[in-house]
Amino acid sequence: MRTDEFATRELAIRRVAGLTRRLRQIDGAQGTWVTVEGRRTLLLCSNNYLGLANHPALIEAAQRAALQYGVGTGASRLISGSMRPHHVFEQRLAAFKSTEAALLFTSGYHANIGAITALVGREDAVFSDRLNHASIIDGCRLSGARVVVYPHADTAALEASLRSTPARRRLIVTDSIFSMEGDTAPLTNICAIAKRYDAMVMVDEAHATGIVGPHGGGVVEAHGLHADVTLQMGTLGKALGAFGAYVAASRPMIDLLMNTARSFIFTTALPPPVVAAADAALSIIATDADRRRRLQCNAARLWEGLRGLGIDAGRQPGHIMPIRIGDADRTMRISERLLDEGVYVQGIRPPTVPVGTSRLRVTVMSTHTRDDLDFAVDCFRRVLAEES
Ligand SMILES: *Cc1c(COP(=O)(O)O)cnc(C)c1O
Repeated sequence: MRTDEFATRELAIRRVAGLTRRLRQIDGAQGTWVTVEGRRTLLLCSNNYLGLANHPALIEAAQRAALQYGVGTGASRLISGSMRPHHVFEQRLAAFKSTEAALLFTSGYHANIGAITALVGREDAVFSDRLNHASIIDGCRLSGARVVVYPHADTAALEASLRSTPARRRLIVTDSIFSMEGDTAPLTNICAIAKRYDAMVMVDEAHATGIVGPHGGGVVEAHGLHADVTLQMGTLGKALGAFGAYVAASRPMIDLLMNTARSFIFTTALPPPVVAAADAALSIIATDADRRRRLQCNAARLWEGLRGLGIDAGRQPGHIMPIRIGDADRTMRISERLLDEGVYVQGIRPPTVPVGTSRLRVTVMSTHTRDDLDFAVDCFRRVLAEES
């Protein structure tokens, strides 16, 4: 009798449903072209939207920080791990976000579960968009608050549930750009509703930080909502090309998180080289608006190319373009065929997306060339010709 027999059984259930997952090894650094299991392929599924993960300025900043501060922090921030790069960068993030203060977290996952559980508890209610990221869902569950899930981007439904759900404190939480849809939350509307019902608003800018807004500050910046949003969260591992996450908010709110967010308190502080790399990325974002423009141009070019093939890649061009397939097995088959042709597009299946909405999640980078994108469209043409 093996003690891991249950694992084999559980996996078999997932295999039948076409839902088993496996890791694909990437050799070399994260660029627009990567070697996937020995084959050179065009990368069209990374969140390294601005191509900064392998940028010389970030590498140099990390190297310098490693020499000056070492690699590890040796403790949590509240014990002895709170180093100069953390403090300097947090001030800079607060300025970037137009808030009084900011706090670094180990990852976006940590930031979301830590912030939500710090803001609401058993006597409270949290209102969450149905398509919010899993880390938000987990934060809501962990908080013990009453969780009201409203239909995607449906502000009328949100308002109705606020009206009918009394609670000590109420929190509305939403992705700003949705990770698997690529569309944008109706934030201006959400903030107006929040004001009417005296609710807090938390916005997850994981896919908008560095990309949207006149200075890359995100959707909150684009719509001038920083005074209406209680708490802005974002990641440093996507467009910023580094690792980690932040929460930006008022001073009292940040002090509360520092005192009560368990995922901040009980974990080792971020390594200085990682913080320095994110800091260097912020400098690039502040000075190189062209990088954001190139991302938009590339998104438009690929979207048009796919549309020319009759492929629906979302209502409008964006750096995240979902191609709905529906069936999980078919999605993975197309993904495999694209890989054979030299394009790496990952299939996204339940539970990441709702059942029956499996999709290819195509993402562009500002460092893709026109030739890269035309090559991608060609590959899609060949693969879809045999599929239909
Ligand atoms: C990726 C992501 C996170 C988690 O961030 P990590 O730093 O990767 O842990 C949180 N929210 C959204 C919307 C994301 O896409």
